[in-house]
Amino acid sequence: MKVGFLGGGQLARMMALAGYPLGLRFRCLDPNPESPAADLMEHIQAPLNDPDALRQFSQGLDCITIESENVPVATLENLLLHGSKINPGIKALATSQDRLYEKSTFQNLGIPTAPFTNIASREELDKEVRSRGGAFILKTRREGYDGKGQFRIKSPADIDAAWAALGGRDLILEEWLSFDAECSLISVRDSQGNTRFYPLVHNVHQDGILFTSEPWSTFSNTSLQSKAEAHAKKIMQELDYVGVLTIEFFVMKGDLVANEMAPRVHNSGHWTIEGAVTSQFENHLRAILGLPLGSTELREPFKMINVIGHMPRASDLLNIEGLCLHDYRKKAAPKRKLGHITLLRPSQEKFEAITRQLK
Ligand code: ATP
Ligand code: MG
Repeated sequence: MKVGFLGGGQLARMMALAGYPLGLRFRCLDPNPESPAADLMEHIQAPLNDPDALRQFSQGLDCITIESENVPVATLENLLLHGSKINPGIKALATSQDRLYEKSTFQNLGIPTAPFTNIASREELDKEVRSRGGAFILKTRREGYDGKGQFRIKSPADIDAAWAALGGRDLILEEWLSFDAECSLISVRDSQGNTRFYPLVHNVHQDGILFTSEPWSTFSNTSLQSKAEAHAKKIMQELDYVGVLTIEFFVMKGDLVANEMAPRVHNSGHWTIEGAVTSQFENHLRAILGLPLGSTELREPFKMINVIGHMPRASDLLNIEGLCLHDYRKKAAPKRKLGHITLLRPSQEKFEAITRQLK
């Protein structure tokens, strides 16, 4: 069977690495000649909205999937017209692409979110911030990632700077939540509605970018697993979801507040390659191709650490016992995710040795 990826980044790369042992084959569409997936599969180098490239891309594929929620909806519509099978579908993509639709979906399903409001003008921003009081975060409705397209508003004095940074785009204003921690749930659902859930992970961000993930149970003895799974089930049912879905939560006073979802495999699930019986990448492929889902059980305690901005020499890392290195072969740039490390059976000492290398 052959799968097509819209986008050829590290997620497509890791899906392919998970799918080759199953005998699967892959093709990706990405305008970047040096995209991380390009040297592992057939690569069509073109923009995702190029009709000729889409026709060529869709030939002979059993299923098409995305590796970014920013794929234009028109691209999926075009592919559906050519008879392609696409998982997850347009509804999931369109909902998670726009923070306003996404948060409204959570709200309609009774899943708690930070109080939010659509902002269509400078006047509305002024009015909301002044009348509600407190601190906020202003976000672009579309295309934000790794904390990009966000501005923190601590008081009305910050409105000018926030508008200068983001004004003119479609915006959403959220109340700033003083949460206790962040966590995420990776779920997978097949076309018959069978679901599996990975253990909840505790996430730590630095400058809005994910830095580490570890089992929630290592961090806290408050069990939130069943609550998180109940929220995920409702969302996946609502979206007729097929594939891996990630939901990011804030933890406040022992309860979950949904922040956002990603209709794809996710950075906070990279640990599953070595730490779970079946990785998120393999389970996504199984789900979208109609194969039985694999066990999501934890195999080993772990800590996942992102490599951001600068890739240390492999020889300086690989002497650490239990360290699994993933280098995406990307050009180094400040704040860019270049790879990740999964540390099995982690200790504070090993973690500190790694962070010294990352500095
Ligand atoms: P990514 O795609 O990397 O997950 P993003 O850029 O899409 O991130 P969010 O996940 O919404 O954006 O926000 C990034 C981080 O900013 C969150 O993980 C959290 O640490 C902080 N943050 C976002 N919204 C709020 C909020 N309402 N209150 C407090 N902190 C927030
Ligand atoms: Mg996020």
